[in-house]
Amino acid sequence: MLKLRTRFAPSPTGLLHVGNAYSALICQQWAEKHDAELLLRIEDIDHTRCRDEYATRLIEDLHWLGLKWQGDTLKQSEHQSRYRNALEKLRELGVIYPCFCSRKHVREEIERMGIAPHAEDIGDPYPGICRQIDLHQRHERTLHERFAWRLDCASAIKQVGESLTWSDEHGHHHPVNLSALGDLVIGRRDIGISYHLAVVVDDAWQGITHVIRGKDLFSSTAVHRLLQALLKLPTPTYIHHPLLVDGDGRRLAKRGEVTTLKHLRDGGITATSLRRFLLKEGPHLWPFSPDNIDEIREQLGSDS
Ligand code: GLU
Repeated sequence: MLKLRTRFAPSPTGLLHVGNAYSALICQQWAEKHDAELLLRIEDIDHTRCRDEYATRLIEDLHWLGLKWQGDTLKQSEHQSRYRNALEKLRELGVIYPCFCSRKHVREEIERMGIAPHAEDIGDPYPGICRQIDLHQRHERTLHERFAWRLDCASAIKQVGESLTWSDEHGHHHPVNLSALGDLVIGRRDIGISYHLAVVVDDAWQGITHVIRGKDLFSSTAVHRLLQALLKLPTPTYIHHPLLVDGDGRRLAKRGEVTTLKHLRDGGITATSLRRFLLKEGPHLWPFSPDNIDEIREQLGSDS
C-alpha cells in the first residue's frame, strides 16, 4: 500500500512562535494517526525576508518541541533551478506574461477601478495592465526593465478547462474558480520565482500525499491545483487546520506580540506542557501575552 506522506514547511522569517508550533504538532498528530511519514521543508526562497540563522534556530526549536521528521530537511534555496525550470515550462506553454507594474501602480489602478480585494494569501487582484502589451514592445521592455511573471488566466483556462477541483480529507471536491483568481504573480520580480510555484514543485518532488497547513492558505490551494494541472504534477489531498487565535478570537499576528518558543523555553516552560496545551480538545486558543510568562507557566501546568 502507498505510504502516506505529509510535510511541515515553515519559512525562516523569524523565530518560531506558538502558531507555528501548533501547525507542526497538527502535522505530527496526523502522521502518527495514519502511520504516515512527516518531512521537514524550509521554505526560504525569499531572500528579502528569510535568514539562515532563523533556519538553524527553527530546527533547534522543533527538536525541543519534540517534532520527529523523516529523512533530510529540504531547503528550497538550494533548489532554485527546479523552480526556474517549472517557470520556463509555464512560459513555453504560453500561460505567463511579463508584468512591469510596481505594486503602487497596481494598487492605484485597483482603487480607480473599484475592484474587490482578494483573500490575503493570494495578493492583490490584477487589473490586467500588462496583459495588453504587444509582443514586440513586451520583448523590448524585458531587456531594460525589471518585471514579474504573471499567470495569464484566460490562457490557463483554455489549457486546463474550467472544471478543476481539489479534494479535502473528507473527500469533498472544492471547485477552482479560475476567473476569480485573476492574473497572479508566479515569478516575483525581486526573487524571480514565487511561493506558489516552489511549493507545488516540491510537494510533487517529495511525493507529498497530504498537505496539512493553516486555513490562512485556503485560497492558495486553488492556485496550487491550477499549477499542478498546467505542469502535469500529481495533486495531494489538502487539509486546512484552524488557526490559533488570541483571547478575542483574533488570529495571532505573525509579527508583533506573538509568543516565541524561545521565550517559553527561557521562561522555564516545558515542551510537554506546551504540546498538551496546544493539542487539547476545544477552541484553538492562545490567550496569553508574552509579557506574562508566569501566567503562561501556571496555565500550562507541569509535566506530571
Ligand atoms: N511556508 C509557508 C508558511 O510558513 C507554509 C507553506 C505551506 O504549508 O504550504 O506559511
